[in-house]
Amino acid sequence: MLDHSHEHLDLRHAVRSLCNTFTGEYWRKIDDERGYPEEFVRALTEAGWLAALIPEQYGGSGLSIAEASVIMEEINRSGANAGSCHGQMYNMGTILRHGSDEQKKKYLPRIAAGELRMQSMAVTEPTAGTDTTKISTFAVRKGDRYVVNGQKVWTSRLQHSDLMVLLARTTPLDKVAKKSEGMSIFIVDVPNSMSKGMTVRPIRNMVNHETNEVFMDNLEIPAENLIGEEGKGFKYLLTGLNAERILIAAECVGDGYWFIDKASTYASERVVFDRPIGQNQGIQFPIARAYVNVEAANLMRFKAASLFDAAKPCGAEANMAKLLAADASWEAANVCLQTHGGFGFAAEYDVERKFRETRLHSVAPVSPNMILSFIGQKVLGMPRTF
Ligand SMILES: Cc1cc2nc3c(=O)[nH]c(=O)nc-3n(C[C@H](O)[C@H](O)[C@H](O)COP(=O)(O)OP(=O)(O)OC[C@H]3O[C@@H](n4cnc5c(N)ncnc54)[C@H](O)[C@@H]3O)c2cc1C
Repeated sequence: MLDHSHEHLDLRHAVRSLCNTFTGEYWRKIDDERGYPEEFVRALTEAGWLAALIPEQYGGSGLSIAEASVIMEEINRSGANAGSCHGQMYNMGTILRHGSDEQKKKYLPRIAAGELRMQSMAVTEPTAGTDTTKISTFAVRKGDRYVVNGQKVWTSRLQHSDLMVLLARTTPLDKVAKKSEGMSIFIVDVPNSMSKGMTVRPIRNMVNHETNEVFMDNLEIPAENLIGEEGKGFKYLLTGLNAERILIAAECVGDGYWFIDKASTYASERVVFDRPIGQNQGIQFPIARAYVNVEAANLMRFKAASLFDAAKPCGAEANMAKLLAADASWEAANVCLQTHGGFGFAAEYDVERKFRETRLHSVAPVSPNMILSFIGQKVLGMPRTF
């Protein structure tokens, strides 16, 4: 296996040795059944890896974002898919940064111990799409409760979560000075809500990704489940995005190395016209090019992580890392498939599964156009387009 990683070696080896106990056969079976990798997620939880970003005082390991990203990278690099569980690592950040002391004490130790899964975050809505400020899910305060009505789409891992982070409007859009105001974040107790106004409809999708439509019909949420101040939810959401971008960039880097490893091995072994196909520059150079691009994306990922860990602004770097890494992993996926010829399409090689999985990162959680408009406007000072 290629090993370009000189940093965090102990951490890498520990995560890698756990991941290597879950073989391609395991992942193919889960993919085939459209199942959830329960044993894998449990093993990661029990080893404490998903509690990496929870401070030690709440029972987590208090690692840096660079270290947490290495965990995600190694998961994907092993041939697994961190999309089944990455929410557990970063969704709790909203409570950690903006929750009350009571909320932190109530939830964080149990999330760290794996007793509670907080894997799900419901932001996207079918009508608003990327334009989050136009969400129409609305929460009205009634005494000691909020009553919520609305619909979410693409709410991932909800069937395997005890807690969901929900973004809802609490002041109508036409009553706020700035469109980013008037939204609030709530903690939703998932099992408790299922018979009380929340309905979940799974979405079958290209990847084996557990994701859902969610309907809320007079769903009642205790007022104590509001995180931070009412109306500031969008701001809270944005503060969590840099961590998410860096972790997902690392997953893409992990995918990229997996594809390049797989492609270069196959190209060296597969003999056609009496020589290894990798002896042909038409096969070798695209693999080498993809490797160069994954390496470059990896640098930006570590730059963003080091800024984040030094508590410096890193919005541009986190977004650029995500863009570059998603592009690089997709290029590597395409090259890997091409290198395998027809066998790339056979499920037993795992290439077609990882190809589908890595493609998602160019769309979710944020698509390239949104990142480019952020860079164009916030970094380069060009006019706003929306
Ligand atoms: C498998 C999966 C899992 C997901 N998990 C979650 C989750 O857990 N929680 C959650 O809240 N969301 C989740 N999402 C939603 C995801 O974040 C959105 O799909 C994504 O942000 C794009 O939103 P949209 O699909 O509504 O696209 P749209 O907003 O409809 O946009 C469609 C395309 O047009 C582009 N576009 C739109 N407006 C402009 C413009 N002004 N200029 C240039 N381009 C533009 C977009 O970039 C996109 O490429 C998930 C999505 C998928 C597919």
